Amino acid sequence: MKITALAGGVGGAKLAHGLAQILAPEELTIIVNTGDDFEHLGLYICPDLDTVCYTLGGLANPETGWGRINETWNTIANVERLGGPAWFRLGDQDIATHLERTRRLREGQSLSQITRDFCKAWGIQHTILPMSDSPVRTRVDTDEGELAFQEYFVHRQCAPKVKGFRFDGVEGAESVVGAKEAIEQADAVIICPSNPWVSVDPILQVIKKINKPVVAVSPIIGGKTVKGPAAKMFDELGIEPSALAVAKHYRNILTGFVLDNADSLLEDDVKNLNVQTLVTDTLMNHLTDRTRLAEDVLHFIGSL
Ligand code: GDP
Repeated sequence: MKITALAGGVGGAKLAHGLAQILAPEELTIIVNTGDDFEHLGLYICPDLDTVCYTLGGLANPETGWGRINETWNTIANVERLGGPAWFRLGDQDIATHLERTRRLREGQSLSQITRDFCKAWGIQHTILPMSDSPVRTRVDTDEGELAFQEYFVHRQCAPKVKGFRFDGVEGAESVVGAKEAIEQADAVIICPSNPWVSVDPILQVIKKINKPVVAVSPIIGGKTVKGPAAKMFDELGIEPSALAVAKHYRNILTGFVLDNADSLLEDDVKNLNVQTLVTDTLMNHLTDRTRLAEDVLHFIGSL
C-alpha cells in the first residue's frame, strides 16, 4: 500500500515512525510542515522537519519528543552567559544540524535537497519532504497582537489568546518536487495526529488539492491534547475542543477519521458528517503503540 502522510512535529512524527515500521521506503512519503521554521541566532531552524527526521532516524529525545537523545547544552548555556537569547532551547548536536543547513542554504541549495542529504546521512530510508522550498511563516493573531509562531509557541508558551492564524508566503509557495507525485501515486493520504491549525493547515494550503482518500487521526483525546496548544486554540476560537471538532475542521477532505476509544461516544456524530470511522487506542507512548496504531490505520484504509 502506498501512503503519503502529512505531519507536524511531535504527534505527527510518532505516527510517521509507526508507518515506517510497516511500509517499505518506496511506500511511504512524509510531507512535513515548515510554517514553524524561523531564523534564530543566525541559524535556519526547521523544528517540525527535524523532529520527524530525528524520530525516524532513531535520534530523537524520547522524553520530550523533540530534540536529540543524549543531548548536551553547552552552546546555549554559553550564549545565555553572554546575554544572548536562550528561550529557544538548542542542544549541541541539534545546533550542528542548523549550522550545516544554514551554510548549505546560503550556498543556494534547496531545503528539500538538504533534507534528502541529511536523511541519507542519518540512515533514513523513507522519503521526508518539507512542504515547500520557499519560506512560509505562521503568524498567530492574539489578544496581544500578531506574533511570529515561535514567539507565541516557545517564548510566550502559548499564553496569549489566539484569534486566528496567517501563513505568510503561502500564496506563492509551491510544494516541493515529489510531493504532488507522491500524493498522485498514493492509495491514501494520512493526516497524522498533529495540530490542525498550525501544523496541518499550512501543508493543506500549500498542497491545495488532494484527489485521494484522506484519513485523519485525531490529535485530541477526551477533549484534551496529549501535548501542545491545539485544544486551547479550538477553545479560544470559540469551538469546543474534541475529536468531533477536529473531524469537522477537515470535513471537506475527509474519507475516514480515527478517534480514540475514550471518544467512542462521538463516533456517530462523526459518521453524520459522512465520514467513515475507526475507534481505537490512539495514544502512542512507545514504538509498539506507534506501530500498532499505524497497522490499525492501514487496515482501516484497506477497508474504505
Ligand atoms: P508540534 O508541531 O511539535 O506541536 O507537533 P504536532 O502538531 O505534530 O503534534 C501536536 C499534536 O499531537 C497535539 O495536538 C497532541 O495532542 C498530538 N499528539 C501528541 N502525541 C499524541 C499521541 O500519542 N496520540 C494522539 N492521538 N495525538 C498525539
